[in-house]
Amino acid sequence: MTSIKQNINAIKTSLPEHVTLVAVSKTKPVSDLMLAYEAGQRIFGENKIQEMTEKWEQMPKDIQWHMIGHVQSNKVKFMAPYVTLIHGVDSLKLLQEINKQAVKNNKTIDCLLQIYIAEEESKFGLDENELNELLTSVEFKELKNIRILGLMGMATFTEDQNQIKKEFTRLKSIFDSTQKLQTINDFSIISMGMSGDYNLAIECGSTMVRIGSSIFGGR
Ligand SMILES: *Cc1c(COP(=O)(O)O)cnc(C)c1O
Repeated sequence: MTSIKQNINAIKTSLPEHVTLVAVSKTKPVSDLMLAYEAGQRIFGENKIQEMTEKWEQMPKDIQWHMIGHVQSNKVKFMAPYVTLIHGVDSLKLLQEINKQAVKNNKTIDCLLQIYIAEEESKFGLDENELNELLTSVEFKELKNIRILGLMGMATFTEDQNQIKKEFTRLKSIFDSTQKLQTINDFSIISMGMSGDYNLAIECGSTMVRIGSSIFGGR
């Protein structure tokens, strides 16, 4: 039986130094997360705010909690006090709400903008034009309590490695052109790659991988 600790250690050893591991622990019990914690893991990713908040309440306070799921504006307030990074931001309206809650908590909240790279209707995200419009808008410049640290994307769920590679490469290229605009400081994260495709994602320039089932087993 391979254990959660062994999985964490094996994956960490295999990752290049510039790549950050987010352990995706959605649906898993706190006891499983604690095994990863004991193996040294401090960054956990969840996709539901209520579940993340319950785990945050029960677990050690040096954990960094990443929200990787689609976020509803009316729930931002529940995670604002403690969340470290919100990956799935895909509208100005949501950014405005995050900024508002950040102000209330007297802090800055770090975000990634989710980019639509897949050929699946069901996935969320901005296209390149919407991204540029957002970043150059007056409304965006008024948001002083958020920081955009980079981009996040999810490839199509397919066996076709060429297609996945094409989509990851596209995200990397959007990231590069956005970084060149030089309008935002600290723009350095490309969150792409999950259990099935993280090696390919790293080849294509990922700096942050979100890995669930390869650590905690299937869901
Ligand atoms: C569940 C999830 C993951 C992890 O998926 P695995 O295939 O279990 O590694 C990564 N990113 C997002 C956005 C997810 O919802």
